[in-house]
Amino acid sequence: MTRYIFVTGGVLSSLGKGITSASIATILKQSGLNVSMLKIDPYLNVDPGTMSPLEHGEVFVTADGAETDLDIGHYERFIDATLGAKNNFTTGQVYQSVLRRERKGGYLGQTIQVIPHIVDEIKDRIKKAGKEHDFLIVELGGTVGDIEGLPFMEAIRELKHELDDDNTMNIHVTLIPYLAAAGELKTKPAQHGVQELRRIGITPHMLVCRTERPLPKDLKRKLAMFCDVNANAVIEASDAASIYQVPLNFIKEGILSPLSNHFNIKIKPNMQKWETLVKHIVLPQDELTIAFVGKYLDLKESYKSLTEALVHAGANLNTKINITWCDSERIEVLGAYEVIGACDAVLVAGGFGNRGIEGKLKAIQYARENEIVYLGICLGMQLAVIEYARNVLGLEDSNSIEFNENTTNPLIYLIDEFIDQSGDTQLRTHKSPMGGTMRLGEYPFIPKEGTKIKKAYGNNETYFERHRHRYEMNPFYKTDLENAGMIISGASSYGLIETVELKDHPWFVGVQFHPEFTSHLESPNPIILEFIKAASNNR
Ligand code: GLN
Repeated sequence: MTRYIFVTGGVLSSLGKGITSASIATILKQSGLNVSMLKIDPYLNVDPGTMSPLEHGEVFVTADGAETDLDIGHYERFIDATLGAKNNFTTGQVYQSVLRRERKGGYLGQTIQVIPHIVDEIKDRIKKAGKEHDFLIVELGGTVGDIEGLPFMEAIRELKHELDDDNTMNIHVTLIPYLAAAGELKTKPAQHGVQELRRIGITPHMLVCRTERPLPKDLKRKLAMFCDVNANAVIEASDAASIYQVPLNFIKEGILSPLSNHFNIKIKPNMQKWETLVKHIVLPQDELTIAFVGKYLDLKESYKSLTEALVHAGANLNTKINITWCDSERIEVLGAYEVIGACDAVLVAGGFGNRGIEGKLKAIQYARENEIVYLGICLGMQLAVIEYARNVLGLEDSNSIEFNENTTNPLIYLIDEFIDQSGDTQLRTHKSPMGGTMRLGEYPFIPKEGTKIKKAYGNNETYFERHRHRYEMNPFYKTDLENAGMIISGASSYGLIETVELKDHPWFVGVQFHPEFTSHLESPNPIILEFIKAASNNR
């Protein structure tokens, strides 16, 4: 029997509901329980794949090729698990399924309504995600009181009856603001949020209180009384130095007893390894600096998985990774040295579109010529190949057809036939629509003996990493590039080029996939770990 924990939020957004949910899941997982997670997004987009990273942060790609909310990334990183398409759904997906069924005559002439049809579809999806797990933690996006959240709230209310009180728990994340003028912490907004929740028929069993200041005992008692929760189930969540500290803080705050009491099971996490890693993040022995070259620098959330992957590598090497954010458009104007300056390594992340490309190319040339450790991810690999072709092979108009359709040297091109994960053939041209023509999700690749990639990944023959791109490296140039010193160090089983590196350079690697999507705190991604080791050895 699966037990369900529903996490809702009140007062305002950005309270850290995702981290709260992932932290509770971590505690259960480290107690030996089989835990999974689900994020429900009440917006109408079918998935965040076509949303601007500036608006919505990163699009997280799962192993099975779903483009999901960035919280799914946090979940995987915390519970060291691989989630998939069924672990994130939106209002858009719910309506799409119901309407498709309606068109096929699946409702036998009934009038289709929010209650029961939409709510039933939501409940089915929740139960599907919970199947075969001891616990499913369900995070509901948005804030209590949002109109678009109502069908989901109703589903949570109904599930309590279907699954029994003992098997479901409601946790409400709220804010206790500090009013400087009054010199007081205020509980009224939290009380109003809970009232709204109870009006819909959901009574929280636990409050997680985000606060900048410690909550006095009396205030906790008052909150418990007026929000109708047990006094030991008011958990303080003050700001933490690292998000990975949050599970440890929750345990210190006494979260284990209300959880154990509610579900009537023993919850005793072993946090030893976790604690050591957190100590390395908060009090590291060493530090180094990475120049992170990108274009969405106004919203660092769009590189969330990558910045977290650097934290994981750092935690496992007891090293703090300082990031110098380098805007590729500034590099175009000022030059690489002026913007990047001294650093231990250069990282060019993935991206789409023309903006800032020439600046990224300059950064790559700077790293290559000055023997600075370099990692290029996806677009960062494609540009490393273009830079090499332009400046070493002398093919001056080398480009990706993403940026110049008519280039005479399309180093990065579009293969017109592509077999996707499900074995279907996709036909593509540069006019194909953006959505639906990307190589998405996990694909195998085989590293070549004696390469840096092989060293990073160890002894297995085949590895899996996740992709999110339309363009590929053009094999037509393979021999010329190899003769000039570029090693094609990894290929997919269909012959697509997945990784490149340089012969005469301390550590210069480009990967067509996104290694950051498989990095977890307890199991950092091998290539990112190797990158940090190289940066540290090359100082
Ligand atoms: N724009 C490039 C492509 O679509 C790279 C994508 C990426 O970096 N994720 O192939």
